Amino acid sequence: MKSGVLSSGAATRLTSAMQEKRKRHLFETLDGKSILMSADWSAGDHAVIEFCDVSFAVETALSRQLDVLTGLANRSALMTRLNEFVVPGSRGAVIYIDLDRFKFVNDTLGHPVGDALLKLVAERISRLLGPHDLLARVGGDEFVILQSSEEQPLAAETLARKLIDIVGRTYLVHGHTVQIGASVGIALIGVDGENVTELVKNADLALFKAKTGGRATYRFFTDAMDRESQGRRAMEIDLRRAMVMKEFSLVYQPQFEIEGSRLVGFEALIRWSTPDRGHVSPAAFIPLAEEIGMIGQLGEWVLRTACAEAASWQAPLSVSVNLSPLQFKNPKLVDTIVSALSNAGLPASRLDLEITEGALMDDTDTVVAMLEEIKKLGMKVSLDDFGTGYSSLSYLQKFPFDKIKIGQSFVRSLESSPDSVAIVRAVTALGKSLGIMTIAEGVETENQLRQIAEEGCGQVQGYLTGKPLSPADAATLIKSQH
Ligand code: C2E
Ligand code: MG
Ligand code: MG
Repeated sequence: MKSGVLSSGAATRLTSAMQEKRKRHLFETLDGKSILMSADWSAGDHAVIEFCDVSFAVETALSRQLDVLTGLANRSALMTRLNEFVVPGSRGAVIYIDLDRFKFVNDTLGHPVGDALLKLVAERISRLLGPHDLLARVGGDEFVILQSSEEQPLAAETLARKLIDIVGRTYLVHGHTVQIGASVGIALIGVDGENVTELVKNADLALFKAKTGGRATYRFFTDAMDRESQGRRAMEIDLRRAMVMKEFSLVYQPQFEIEGSRLVGFEALIRWSTPDRGHVSPAAFIPLAEEIGMIGQLGEWVLRTACAEAASWQAPLSVSVNLSPLQFKNPKLVDTIVSALSNAGLPASRLDLEITEGALMDDTDTVVAMLEEIKKLGMKVSLDDFGTGYSSLSYLQKFPFDKIKIGQSFVRSLESSPDSVAIVRAVTALGKSLGIMTIAEGVETENQLRQIAEEGCGQVQGYLTGKPLSPADAATLIKSQH
């Protein structure tokens, strides 16, 4: 055996192992080698001792349990520890953490910054843990804590609050200031699952709720989440085969100029109906299609169908198509739109694309560049649901929209809220000075129509002036108007 230097602690422990006549003792040299001592004491008071360098075996075993980047436990180590910990009567919590905006940081500032950031996050969270808690990294930006405290749910709640706070504070990474957040889902051991697999799954479900509930928050698992997730899974199965079953269709809601009541165009709205479910609201299945990665395919179908149907109209009216923010993640989006137009033989000037503020929130520069290309090709771009999201006027600065759609919530509160009146007035005035058309959505009463007209809004779309129509009924309306 080559010689190795021991720390004084390791030397003391080795000496006492000998004095105790132990058969095996594993120790580490100062240069990091793992040495196994095997002693044969069968001869009585003297022994035959063998030292063996087992560094490779030890490292392999450790690396199977360790996350290389952060040095935390990995998923396999977590599961091992959980399986030991979770026995009848044990109390504690499984705390699932996912970083908000991490992907964005990683994509824009690069992987070295992403990696360094993950290490900093791991350090910050580690500082909050008790001596018997375990922190593991189980995926790119996902962490799980096994919290062993019995004071539940208070201990988990306190830890969740602290870690959301501490992870959300600014980081300095390779000269960049970086801001991310944490969403947290909690399952209580002994309460929220029969076994380890269920506990982890339920903490993950609670995390999903925290993420969809606005991020940077925590949620405890509830039985309702489980039922909901089963419902979602059933819907996902149906949604995945809806395309081949030809269960989608488009309806068209008319848009009118307020002055002169002239029909100017239609908004294409998707419909899904199945023999079992009847009509399913797009508000329910569009988010699911986004989540399961189906929105690209679905959005392309909407574009192609709307362009083809609009091309058959007897008058050259505009057709508005809703685009999900996720469709902008596809660099081929503009090509797809151009292909839909040319296949249908529809002039670009008749297509109006509706986007929400959400599309401009992440990765704004890329999206704005795509929108500019779209505009250069002659299409129009509308800002949908203005006033329901962040309603920030700054979005109007980022891109020269052709139209602002004032959301239903504003229109509905016109009669009761002076604030809404003031905002609608300001937006229409701004639109006029910037040359942007304004349209009020969801107008249901004569009173609302009168009010939005008084505030200077140019167009209207709502049940009062016309519900969404089948393609045949839309064609009939066009004929009757022209
Ligand atoms: P949106 O784009 O703001 O569409 C307007 C929604 O308001 C439509 O609901 C329409 O039927 C409804 N609406 C119109 N007038 C009135 C009214 O006077 N009163 C009330 N209560 N509602 C009115 P719909 O068709 O259920 O669509 C809901 C949302 O689903 C849409 O909101 C849009 O965000 C999304 N969506 C619909 N079709 C598509 C699509 O093809 N692609 C994408 N990505 N999203 C779509
Ligand atoms: Mg819309
Ligand atoms: Mg809208």
